[in-house]
Amino acid sequence: MKNKTDLNYQKTNIYEKRGDDYINLAEDYSVGYKKFLDSSKTERDCVKKTISLAVENGFKEYDFGMEIKPGDRYFYNNRGRSIYLFRVGSEPVDKGIRILASHIDSPRIDFKQMPIYEDGGFCFAKTRYYGGIRKYQWLALPLALHGVIVRKNGETVDICIGDDENDPVFYINDLLPHLAQEQSEKPLAKAISAENMNVLLGSRPCDDCDSECECKIKQNILKLLNKKYGICEEDFLSADIFAVPAGKARDVGFDRSLMSAYGHDDKVCAYPSLTALFETGDSSHTVMVVLADKEEIGSEGNTSMKSELFTDIMGAITESLGGNIYKVRANSKCLSADVTACFDPNYAEAYDPKNTTRINCGVAMSKYTGHGGKSSTNDAPAEYIAWLRKIFEEAGVVWQAGDMGRNDLGGGGTVAKFIANHNIETVDLGVPVISMHAPYEIVSKVDVYSAHTAFSAFCRL
Ligand code: MN
Ligand code: MN
Repeated sequence: MKNKTDLNYQKTNIYEKRGDDYINLAEDYSVGYKKFLDSSKTERDCVKKTISLAVENGFKEYDFGMEIKPGDRYFYNNRGRSIYLFRVGSEPVDKGIRILASHIDSPRIDFKQMPIYEDGGFCFAKTRYYGGIRKYQWLALPLALHGVIVRKNGETVDICIGDDENDPVFYINDLLPHLAQEQSEKPLAKAISAENMNVLLGSRPCDDCDSECECKIKQNILKLLNKKYGICEEDFLSADIFAVPAGKARDVGFDRSLMSAYGHDDKVCAYPSLTALFETGDSSHTVMVVLADKEEIGSEGNTSMKSELFTDIMGAITESLGGNIYKVRANSKCLSADVTACFDPNYAEAYDPKNTTRINCGVAMSKYTGHGGKSSTNDAPAEYIAWLRKIFEEAGVVWQAGDMGRNDLGGGGTVAKFIANHNIETVDLGVPVISMHAPYEIVSKVDVYSAHTAFSAFCRL
């Protein structure tokens, strides 16, 4: 007969069960993560940062047609917006590839193609929001602009302004409470019009326009843009300009146990995927890390997880190693590394308290995501989860299981189903997040470190 503790399952709070050594490792790890975040606000920023880390760790750029052999480390830069990294293992590729897939795009406010206009003594940029935002959270907040403007001749102008403390910031206006009586009576989802979420760019008129000019403020902004970047208004036609929260990742709380930052979803899984790949050295399996774009808008397009590039790279690796792609896919395993909702006692009614993730209890597995009756989800099979339980136990990984929220309240998706559709065993495993999709989200340092240990175990075994 087993004793009571063997019969009952309980989540492990890392602070209660792990010693100072573990907690110090988590603290050290958080320093690197915060640095990574500060230079990875958009997918373009994140790809650049990832390439520099990959090169430091002995990875070389891959192109289709190259011969590869065991021990090789490569990255494939997909248009500067998504990236694949792989390390070739010593055993036959037919035994499958271990895949860690996360995404590096985060909700934000994008400029429209003809953004700049003047109104009421101000110059603004028209925007279209990207991903699932709660609009009210993005008002009256310092914003930075990140992105590129590409001139007709192909020259790329990098835009990155608002994060340095000497830079100006940008802003989306909110209505003062004194005059918000009508607005305050509207449902939350309807109170803010997306068409009013214009980014404030300035207010000073040009001093050498002729007196009839009706857009002196816009003219002045265009002149400044021309001086700083050498661009004119037409160049915004071919631009990706994103407004993101200005500022850096910070510790939260007197005990500094938490971190706030823009874009934990899903850099908080991308970073541990990279550190796991870099730190596990040589492994018998071939390991691949995918950092995908466009997850927040449904994984559409050639930089998303639905792109055929995934099958192309799997095929190219297999072909070069003399394997059989059907076998490789059938034997591959994937962790879809994406965040999940952490239980928040302030909104307890949104969760099933018995099946939710808890802060500081480690990286969280979601057997299924989706909505309603498991609609639009990869529902991971018991056999695969049992296999993971074993390798996590052997590696001393603290992890937990947890649903996104209460049944029929909403839901969400990840890239898991797109990978599983390729006949690859897949489950979601990621860091629990408080205030997901807010301009500043919260995660726990020990949970982030737990993701690193889980992904490392997956790469190593
Ligand atoms: Mn995500
Ligand atoms: Mn998301």
